[in-house]
Amino acid sequence: MLKGIGKGIKLLPGSPSTMFVPWEDGFIVIDPGSSEGRTADIRAQGKVKAVLLTHFHSDHVLAAKGLESELGTHAPIVEACGVESVGLRRAVTFGGYAPEGLIYHVKAVSVQVDHVFRHPFQLGPVETVPLPGHTYGQVGYVANRILYAADSFFGDKLLKSAVIPYYQDYGTALETLRWLREHARDFRKLVPSHGPVVEGKRAEELLDFNIGVMEELPDKVMTELASKPMTVEELTSKLLREGGGKVTVSSIILSAVTIRSLLARLYEESKVTAETGERGILWKLNM
Ligand SMILES: [Zn+2]
Repeated sequence: MLKGIGKGIKLLPGSPSTMFVPWEDGFIVIDPGSSEGRTADIRAQGKVKAVLLTHFHSDHVLAAKGLESELGTHAPIVEACGVESVGLRRAVTFGGYAPEGLIYHVKAVSVQVDHVFRHPFQLGPVETVPLPGHTYGQVGYVANRILYAADSFFGDKLLKSAVIPYYQDYGTALETLRWLREHARDFRKLVPSHGPVVEGKRAEELLDFNIGVMEELPDKVMTELASKPMTVEELTSKLLREGGGKVTVSSIILSAVTIRSLLARLYEESKVTAETGERGILWKLNM
């Protein structure tokens, strides 16, 4: 089941994929994932020396529960509280307590973090690379110039179906994407959690596609607001529909996070303003 991707580093495919870095008499496991039987699949590969998490999202951390490792589970400080607290994890996206099953199909479970760290952090052959934007404290991990890039960018398939990728901070996420594009050739391979392993020209093309989707968003938002002022949810659902995406309660909640953060950037640039109306907070284009 494990797929070699070079220099002894292996990948357990999935969404997210899990990276295995050989170290001493075992493996460092990066983002265990959440699919059924994942914990047992990881255990079957050999001795787990340590578990490293990139960010607190349930689909990345669930299988860390019950995965015994010699040195324990490690997470960046800004993410660690969300790994341990399901309530906090949901509140970041929903704005407060959210019921099971409304936002994600993955069950949310609290996972204990044994070691909290700040970038720069190194464990054996693995070092952190800050990749904020999808979440504020997200890190990637590099070993032997192979970068596990977490949810800093996505495969074409996921990006096309999501239409609006999830980013807590549009502006920071775009900076991270541009940094990755500039440094793509510094890495032997790039491994997005949800997408194909890419290198060289293919890596640059996929990053260009991700950057393109993000760079088109401000114009799309301002074009919609030029027709009439809208609430974040109205605007998000219109953009999803026009992009051919699924319009569900869950997709609107998730995509509205990105759109809200983009509106905040446009507000700071005096391009939009917010006012109250019968339908709630209406975002309006500054003419
Ligand atoms: Zn994520």
